[in-house]
Amino acid sequence: MARYTGSVCRQCRREGVKLFLKGDRCSGAKCAVIKRHTPPGQHGQARTRKQSEYGIQLREKQKCRRAYGVLESQFRKYYTMASNMRGVTGENMLCLLERRLDNVVYRLGLCDSRPMSRQMVQHGHIRVNGKKVDIPSYLIAQGDIITVRERSRDMQNLKVLKEQGGSRLVPKWLEMDAENLTGKVIAVPQRDDIDLTIEEHLIIEFYSR
Ligand code: SF4
Repeated sequence: MARYTGSVCRQCRREGVKLFLKGDRCSGAKCAVIKRHTPPGQHGQARTRKQSEYGIQLREKQKCRRAYGVLESQFRKYYTMASNMRGVTGENMLCLLERRLDNVVYRLGLCDSRPMSRQMVQHGHIRVNGKKVDIPSYLIAQGDIITVRERSRDMQNLKVLKEQGGSRLVPKWLEMDAENLTGKVIAVPQRDDIDLTIEEHLIIEFYSR
């Protein structure tokens, strides 16, 4: 499947916020958003002018899409799925994105960024309920157990994770046993559990035009 292969820091600069796509580097002084405040490209400065309503909605949609590493066609499918569910469409959409397997692997602290966790899933390092799942968009459900394949447990980042007993604060809808590299989905995530600063109503307005 096609995917974005350009500089991920450009994506953060375009959205003007940290999307945390590069692991440790994102917390350091080398972060491109901190070093360069303008959008990328020759005409980056011009893009900081006042935006139209459409422009604001578009940027919010792009920010969310890039944070989760999802291409446009798939992102639109999440919108369709969310609008067919009960409840608030915007919240449903964010909760669906949050349930993606690559996001769950990242949230459990098994990887430092979503692009890394996506690769980890695609390379077959992850098991869900004991079965190999190499599809990053796989939607986890309540009660699912996420583990690392036995022969992948010597990977350097996982060794460090085991030694430290967990690297990052795990959200309350997940449970992580760092020593055994095993995570459990206690509940499906709700909007309040998602710490991304996204105004999802703008995304819905964008697709409802
Ligand atoms: Fe974004 Fe991380 Fe690059 Fe900073 S270092 S611009 S947060 S990907």
